[in-house]
Amino acid sequence: MSHYDIAVIGGGLAGLSVLYHLKRAGKLSGKRVLLVDPQRKTAHDRTWSFWETGEGPFEELVYHRWDQVSLHNAHTHCTCDLAPYAYKVILSNDFYAHVNGILDGVGALTRVQGQASEVRSGPATASFQLGGETVTADIVFSSEPHPLDYREVKQPYLDQHFRGWFIETEEDTFDPRRASLMDFRTPQEGETRFFYVLPFSKRRAMVEIAIFSNEHLRTEQYDALIGDYIHAHWTQGPYRVYHTEGGNIPMTTYDYPRRTGNLIYIGLGGGAARPSTGYTFYGLQRQLMRLAAAFPDISATQVWPEKHRLYDATLLRILEQRKLRGDEVFVNLFQRNPPARVLAFLNGESTLWQELRLMGTTPIGVFGTTFVRELL
Ligand SMILES: Cc1cc2nc3c(=O)[nH]c(=O)nc-3n(C[C@H](O)[C@H](O)[C@H](O)COP(=O)(O)OP(=O)(O)OC[C@H]3O[C@@H](n4cnc5c(N)ncnc54)[C@H](O)[C@@H]3O)c2cc1C
Repeated sequence: MSHYDIAVIGGGLAGLSVLYHLKRAGKLSGKRVLLVDPQRKTAHDRTWSFWETGEGPFEELVYHRWDQVSLHNAHTHCTCDLAPYAYKVILSNDFYAHVNGILDGVGALTRVQGQASEVRSGPATASFQLGGETVTADIVFSSEPHPLDYREVKQPYLDQHFRGWFIETEEDTFDPRRASLMDFRTPQEGETRFFYVLPFSKRRAMVEIAIFSNEHLRTEQYDALIGDYIHAHWTQGPYRVYHTEGGNIPMTTYDYPRRTGNLIYIGLGGGAARPSTGYTFYGLQRQLMRLAAAFPDISATQVWPEKHRLYDATLLRILEQRKLRGDEVFVNLFQRNPPARVLAFLNGESTLWQELRLMGTTPIGVFGTTFVRELL
């Protein structure tokens, strides 16, 4: 049996981030630390976008930033100046290389390539099985995914499933100063379906379709929709696809376990995705910075403010039960509010006054009754 002060299960975004913030807060010195993952991640397997004011903890890794975003539906569109926010993107390969490089310099860090199982918390330590051996640690951070079946969740639940193409055109096509945050100009098929376009230069962009529903498509179906959309709205000329990305983020107000004794759940498995949007990166960094500052006090595991769970349950229920169309809800929100108010709200950093003003711009009958129903 081996014992560590801190063990981290999973070397993806959450696992690497927690160690990074603990190191920056000076909380790893003199500690025996274990990081377990079946692989050392290096690939561009995720493109993390988020918005924030000022500089964040990974500023030097920002691959591109935008001060403006646009939104479209079939009837209307708007362009928003984001100040004081900026919309930013970090490529996972840059993140893994940077953080793994820093962690390699932590003398007392042991890396094991393996799969942890039987993860549990005891009275004074937490433990798991690894390669036929029992490992114990004073504190275990686990970013194992939390198994969830939407048919068994009583809270609102919608998958956000998506697929993106990174394309290079032969002619100037994009405006690299403006990202398209949500473009609903694609058949909605009774769901919430939108495109998301991140232009990195006049000729390079990520074009992604995201769908909020529990029915996933086959890869060729996403691809057909992306191809049609590029042809209809961006270019009829030739282009090449130089990278693809896809995935799924559960959007739900399900009560993910956050902590059992000395075992702390982090990342998607710890409920780090914002239920109403699926955005995770920013909220996760904010949570882990707070946790690292307070460490070894591990009581503060909250990712999103509690009141936002109710707001998100309201919005998700409206979309899930198709009481309003997603394309109208989201475009209206940005058209009727200063963008900074919407972005502060979605980042969980709005004031009550901002929230009330924002709610005043929604179809109040539907939102009001759904809100009260979720509250009860
Ligand atoms: C393609 C994609 C794009 C995304 N884009 C955005 C975005 O733009 N903005 C945003 O905010 N969020 C985004 N997300 C959501 C979220 O930020 C990511 O899913 C993020 O990677 C979640 O971090 P995580 O650590 O929970 O999971 P992961 O990064 O997947 O890491 C989990 C790690 O745990 C390891 N692991 C699992 N089980 C075990 C075990 N039993 N033992 C040992 N190791 C284990 C896995 O091998 C993996 O390396 C995206 C998600 C995906 C899939």
